[in-house]
Amino acid sequence: MAFRLAEAGTSVTLIEAGRIAEGTSMTSFAWVSACEKINSDSYYRLSLAAVAAHLDLVAEFGAAGNWYHRPGVIQWLGAGYEGMALAESPLFQKLDRLAALGYPAERIGAGDLARLEPRLCPAALGIGEEAIHYPEDGYVEAPVMIGALIEAAIVRFGMELRTQTAVRRLITDNGRATGVETASGETLSADVVINCAGRWANEVVGSPDLTIPLTPTLGLIAYTSSVGTAIRKVLRTPYLNVRADGGGRLLLRANDLDETLAADDVARPDHPAAIELARRLGELVPALVGIHAEAARIATRPIPQGGLPCVGTLPGLDNYWVAVTHGGINTSALIGIALRDEILEGRPAPEYAPYRPDRFFKAAA
Ligand SMILES: Cc1cc2nc3c(=O)[nH]c(=O)nc-3n(C[C@H](O)[C@H](O)[C@H](O)COP(=O)(O)OP(=O)(O)OC[C@H]3O[C@@H](n4cnc5c(N)ncnc54)[C@H](O)[C@@H]3O)c2cc1C
Repeated sequence: MAFRLAEAGTSVTLIEAGRIAEGTSMTSFAWVSACEKINSDSYYRLSLAAVAAHLDLVAEFGAAGNWYHRPGVIQWLGAGYEGMALAESPLFQKLDRLAALGYPAERIGAGDLARLEPRLCPAALGIGEEAIHYPEDGYVEAPVMIGALIEAAIVRFGMELRTQTAVRRLITDNGRATGVETASGETLSADVVINCAGRWANEVVGSPDLTIPLTPTLGLIAYTSSVGTAIRKVLRTPYLNVRADGGGRLLLRANDLDETLAADDVARPDHPAAIELARRLGELVPALVGIHAEAARIATRPIPQGGLPCVGTLPGLDNYWVAVTHGGINTSALIGIALRDEILEGRPAPEYAPYRPDRFFKAAA
């Protein structure tokens, strides 16, 4: 958002409580795809537009747009959605629906899997089982993307970045947002305020009237040391999700292990979930038996109540926008364009029409 607004000639100040890219985006599987949203026409359209926006964004950056990788994704039929249980419809129905939609996806068996991922245990798929291969899906290295966009916004368009500056509250006057107050008591005035503080979105507003109901969940990601064993695809098995994370490292997570996390858990390589993820990796990839996690991180997913995005204005308050969503890496490139056009040109993106914040405020109005 900051990049797109600065690019459009707006004077932008980005206020960050810590360092950039340290929020949930640092600890994300960051799958970019529309294939998990096919049970909802509007969410599917939104996600397709989001994938297209990522492609456009990296194309705009040319050789420097190096954060979006599309090695293809393989999803076992029993694998759930990111952070959630298995989708309601069985995955074989999902394939039919994907085919009807024209989404690049193919049914594969054990032989195909062995060809696509030769390092996996031969029984990885299970006898007679099948998986879905999404040959064009991929992931984003979110911190790399965030760093590149912020750098470009500063260098090319003069954006101001204020790190180590926590926002304490939104300042309003006669039904209009006029700026923010920082933890040090400083007031920063603005014509428009955008709240993109993710899981902290309610902590920065300083008023219960402006809070969005969130149902956050915890996720743990474990990282291996650099391994010499190639895993080419993004793998989503029922018990382990794996992908490359740069420098030869692998990134590991699992829905069932996330459910064992407690709020006061400390993310360390010897966390039981990290140990179990590494064990499961060894089971999936025999060459990696005995591997340990080198690092682990725990993050909180910023999930608006109901699980769907929350992007737009609040009723009764002008000049204030909020953008909080799970799947926020998936939609990040689109949100920037959507809010730019809405704020500067008064053109709300049709893709976000069903996902406006006012749905949470209607009952109270
Ligand atoms: C384990 C896991 C797996 C995931 N997998 C996927 C996936 O496959 N695909 C996908 O699309 N999404 C996935 N997500 C979700 C996705 O990572 C988030 O939706 C996304 O990172 C949210 O980005 P954000 O910019 O809104 O929030 P954040 O990245 O959290 O950024 C918010 C920023 O606000 C700053 N901040 C906080 N308080 C203040 C304050 N008071 N003042 C100023 N700044 C403040 C923080 O420091 C932070 O930098 C996953 C999440 C987890 C945890």
